[in-house]
Amino acid sequence: MTTSELSLFKAAFLQSWNAIVITDADASQGYGVVFANPAFCTMTGYSFEELRGRPLKMLQGPDTDPMVIADLRTCLQQERYFEGTTYNYRKDGSSYVVHWNISPVRDENGKLTHFVSVQQDISEFVRVARDNQLLARALDATSDPVVVTDAHAHITFVNSAFSRVTGYPVTEVMGKTPAMLRSGQHDEAFYANLRKTLTAGKDFRATFINRRRDGSIYHAEQSISPVMDEKGRITHFVSVTKDISDRVEKEQGLIHDASHDTLTDLYNRRFGEQVLSSSFRQARALGGVISLILCDIDHFKQVNDRFGHPTGDRVIVNVAKALRHTVRGRDAVIRWGGEEFLVLLDDCPAEPGQQLAERMRARVEALQDEEVGRITLSLGLATLAADDTLEQLIERADTALYAAKQAGRNRVSVAP
Ligand code: GH3
Ligand code: MG
Ligand code: MG
Repeated sequence: MTTSELSLFKAAFLQSWNAIVITDADASQGYGVVFANPAFCTMTGYSFEELRGRPLKMLQGPDTDPMVIADLRTCLQQERYFEGTTYNYRKDGSSYVVHWNISPVRDENGKLTHFVSVQQDISEFVRVARDNQLLARALDATSDPVVVTDAHAHITFVNSAFSRVTGYPVTEVMGKTPAMLRSGQHDEAFYANLRKTLTAGKDFRATFINRRRDGSIYHAEQSISPVMDEKGRITHFVSVTKDISDRVEKEQGLIHDASHDTLTDLYNRRFGEQVLSSSFRQARALGGVISLILCDIDHFKQVNDRFGHPTGDRVIVNVAKALRHTVRGRDAVIRWGGEEFLVLLDDCPAEPGQQLAERMRARVEALQDEEVGRITLSLGLATLAADDTLEQLIERADTALYAAKQAGRNRVSVAP
């Protein structure tokens, strides 16, 4: 080796960014340090003078992994290469995580004379990895679903809450896009707005109607945020969701309760009046024909008197069901009073209205209550006339009903 090569080796050894240490091969003395480069001295906090001749065991401490050291020792004894990671300790007592490899060095006769070890302090790397693990664990522990996608909307992370709410196991969604949650209940404009907002680097918040893996629907208050790198380029999207199905169901329940009668689940009178007036206005505006059937159970006082109020209630419920099942889907059945019902037939002239009223009468008569026996209904039909107000139309149905009662009950009477 030329002198210039030798000085190159020395310069390289001294200036290497990696810590390099050379020990002798004397196991009985614990492999004393022969050379240590400045990077090694910086990493350990010892000067070369303090290290020289001493075994590297001096760097070990309470958190040094005895298994790794045992493996190391075996390798050194067998004159083999070794690579490992453990905690070591600096001169000031502080610890660091070191990753190192050790190679045997032999002379020209192949005899082992030294070991050379290249080392790197990986404490920072380990800390970041732990932090990431901690963050992932924290996200996993939150009860709200979290989804992370890359810039192309491919899923890179979902937490347990996501799987719990959607029914999709983690393994099934990795690499896919959140489009799998689409319920079909948002139009393209909704998703276009979402894309536009996110690509502008802004947060997008909305109530999503999503579909679970089993096909069921849930309402989610979702907030999606773009994540950018230091150059302002979008690298990921993070979505945090609140499952608000319970709240939506409650709200929908409240709306239902406000418009429906608790006993029969028909429209209540208050809501029925709104339906009537909007139908009436529409019929007037478009020249449509509506018919009303007002009906009342015959001799119902006797039912209550003879069988009690609870039985009376049951009869009312069964009559309500019979009416609901007889009318067309778009007709409104309103519990108008105690045992009085008003049926609104949209877009229905007198003739078919009368036929329908007759079917309602027959169906109720056929009910045959287990206790009460035969139940009958009287019905009055009125069809919108040219000069009718809504009040007059209802009044005419009422008069027709009265006529049906007068004529002997269990019959349909048509208003003139
Ligand atoms: P008509 O054939 O003339 O109609 O005779 P009716 O006995 O049915 O007379 P009316 O329609 O005037 O009486 C209605 C009765 O219905 C009076 C009331 O006690 C009873 N009723 C009203 N609402 C309810 C209810 O929610 N449950 C029960 N069980 N009975 C009710
Ligand atoms: Mg009655
Ligand atoms: Mg009545």
